[in-house]
Amino acid sequence: MTLKITERLIMTPGPTMVDPRVLQAASNPILGQFDPEFTKIMNENMEFIRRAFQTKNKWSFPVDGTSRAGLEAVINSIVAHGDKVFIPRIGRFGNLAVELATRAGGEIYTLDGEWGQVLSQEKIIEKMNEIKPKVVIFVHGETSTGRLQPMDKIGAAAKKIGAFTVVDAVASFMGVNIPVDDWELDAVIGGAQKSLSAPSGITPLTFNDRFAQEISKRKRVEAGVATKDSAKADDFITSNYLDLTQLMDYWSPARLNHHTESTILNYALHEALELILNEEGLENRFENQKKQQTILKNSLRQLGLKIFGDEKNEMPNMVAVEIPSNVDGEKVRSVLLNEYGVEISSSFGPMAGKIWRIGLMGYVAQKHYVLRFLSIFSQVLEQNGAVLNIKEALEYANNAYKK
Ligand SMILES: *Cc1c(COP(=O)(O)O)cnc(C)c1O
Repeated sequence: MTLKITERLIMTPGPTMVDPRVLQAASNPILGQFDPEFTKIMNENMEFIRRAFQTKNKWSFPVDGTSRAGLEAVINSIVAHGDKVFIPRIGRFGNLAVELATRAGGEIYTLDGEWGQVLSQEKIIEKMNEIKPKVVIFVHGETSTGRLQPMDKIGAAAKKIGAFTVVDAVASFMGVNIPVDDWELDAVIGGAQKSLSAPSGITPLTFNDRFAQEISKRKRVEAGVATKDSAKADDFITSNYLDLTQLMDYWSPARLNHHTESTILNYALHEALELILNEEGLENRFENQKKQQTILKNSLRQLGLKIFGDEKNEMPNMVAVEIPSNVDGEKVRSVLLNEYGVEISSSFGPMAGKIWRIGLMGYVAQKHYVLRFLSIFSQVLEQNGAVLNIKEALEYANNAYKK
């Protein structure tokens, strides 16, 4: 072994720390991608993904690649050249949706909300009804600002006008409840390296039959595995690797050869999902995320810091906190990382230099990590010129955990 990796306390909105059992699962021997022992794990992962999204969707499987690959697979498969795409946008990841849909050839319509706020569903629906898009893409957990976009009514409203909803739930997946069927969402993309606490590189997603039928109109099976009956649309999906229709064949009993599935990432995904679904329990998971986030947030307030954004619509797995005006935000981050092995995030665009983003996703949402973080963070902040109520804040946090 020549790599020696330093242990960190990662308090960012991804990548997150991972339960050692997940890493251990990933160190198992490689299996061939059609080995029955492996296809059984694939099938179990599909079932775990269904349970995680509380959906009956047959089409629930992971895509090899980071969450962006999952987003790109879904968007490339549903958005054809010239299709109208509506994207409500409240932060950086809304811009990513615009980017991906533009590259897919979509005609883009946006509705912009202020960073740090969310858009009202009524406003989104009203604008959507006016535009009559084929596809509506929105971000559930907008990690650049820490906001959680309400979305329980958008799916049904989109269906009414024949539009398809695509949800970037990369950062909210396994941090907050996402009942895909109840909310009538057509395609939802989760993430591995956020609240699921798995390594980056594999992306769970789900989509319904209505969505599957629509994308199958643009199906084209590659020559190497096609038969004379295989689909070959003229208006085909332009990506080969991120073509959901070919991935459907790969993840169905047909097991039509496509890519070589990543065995070890499937082991990791299996373990991470099993720990949540069968050991912790979904409800406990979401409750714990909220509890830890509330304690951290209120402790930071006790310190004397200001919490950023609309508090009614915040993500329960991160805290966005304003950088005090006399403090150099990047210097603090660098001391935290280099002297204490603690990582937090800055932000993007209009938020750059204004807020820190402290992640509390999945495995790191535990008392000892939160308390350790608070002690180190407040000390480093004080060394860098902030005037704080450290004693009160630590006392508050300790008491909060006693309740
Ligand atoms: C992190 C993140 C992504 C991108 O995920 P990668 O795994 O880095 O590709 C997309 N959307 C949101 C909301 C995210 O937080």
